[in-house]
Amino acid sequence: MTAHIEAASPHVMPTYGRVPIALERGQGCRVWDVNGKEYLDALGGIAVNTLGHNHPKLVPALQAQIAQLIHVSNYYHVPGQETLAQMLTERSAMTNVFFCNTGLEANEAAIKIARKYGVDKGIEKPEIVVYDHAFHGRSIATMSATANPKVRNGFGALLGGFNRVSPNDYEALVEATEGNPNIVAIMMEPIQGEGGLHPMRVDYLQKVRALCDAKGWLLIMDEVQAGMGRTGKWFAHQWAGITPDVMTLAKGLGSGVPVGAVVAHKAAAQVLTAGNHGSTFGGNPLAMRAGVETIRIMEEDGLLAHATEVGDYLKQQLQAALGGIEGFVEVRGQGLMIGVELTKPCGALIGQAAEAGLLLSVTSDTVIRLVPPLIISKQEADEVVARLKPLVQTVLAA
Ligand SMILES: *Cc1c(COP(=O)(O)O)cnc(C)c1O
Repeated sequence: MTAHIEAASPHVMPTYGRVPIALERGQGCRVWDVNGKEYLDALGGIAVNTLGHNHPKLVPALQAQIAQLIHVSNYYHVPGQETLAQMLTERSAMTNVFFCNTGLEANEAAIKIARKYGVDKGIEKPEIVVYDHAFHGRSIATMSATANPKVRNGFGALLGGFNRVSPNDYEALVEATEGNPNIVAIMMEPIQGEGGLHPMRVDYLQKVRALCDAKGWLLIMDEVQAGMGRTGKWFAHQWAGITPDVMTLAKGLGSGVPVGAVVAHKAAAQVLTAGNHGSTFGGNPLAMRAGVETIRIMEEDGLLAHATEVGDYLKQQLQAALGGIEGFVEVRGQGLMIGVELTKPCGALIGQAAEAGLLLSVTSDTVIRLVPPLIISKQEADEVVARLKPLVQTVLAA
């Protein structure tokens, strides 16, 4: 079967280390491969499938939208953009949105906003503070902001203007920026998703917010993975009671339909004007409908509270099941963005789990990442733990 699946893609560039299965259909938190084998989905397309698969409210709405209008152009008004922008700004206490299609595009736009914000103030060489273990995307600008050498290396000179500091070390941040007149922004993930599920501490976020206010710097929150209810609040930074100047969204925003957004307020919302930025596909009617329906259904079905409840339950059950195993470090995360850290590299678990009927991922070599659809039930959470435990035991015993 392995050979069969690999041979099936001779024309696709080999940019991914893929598990040799091919998925064909899904229902709720379950998917089936081309051979009819069932998998429990604790990956949700990497925090994308907010509403799981084949959601009974989302699918008819998207079908109706496809029949009505998929795409026009930003030459014209797209009413769905205003609808979704209003929903996002109300829930974030911000004011304006730019729509794009992916996480890196949203971050690229945020970086452009920060740099132009600086240039408009007379700062010719604007610099942005970024973090160790950060992941912001794979365009030249966003991979320059990213920390992981595996992402950055091999493409020649990267974009300058990024100053890197350690997460949660306020003194180091002050030291690294002291007296530097070129700083225009601080950009961070509230919980580092690709970098090992490391959260920024609440007191750190609050201090950084105050520092940005005092210095006139923009605070940019990359909520591409942690946003859209994943942690039990609309946006993860809301746990710290702060509001950034710029926030980027993508993954979970369209429940699987590509939708990206940059949300801004105050001065940051005024930076981009006609001709400064754009996107052919950005904000098309299908994407907007996906975003609007995702938010509407999440609220109708109480999925924020559900993410907290099932997330806490899943963490408890993981702790209870794995706690005594030699080589288990900890379970951490918020809501349904959960990391299980081990003392050993466990990348092989992705394939082993698939074999055992469980979809998950591993980040920064030693952290199992669980970011299931927000509709996951407690019974399904129990099943995740039951399937995961023997795999963890095996990988740690090896
Ligand atoms: C996935 C991710 C991105 C990149 O999103 P793409 O849609 O793959 O471009 C950026 N930032 C964070 C925090 C992410 O998790």
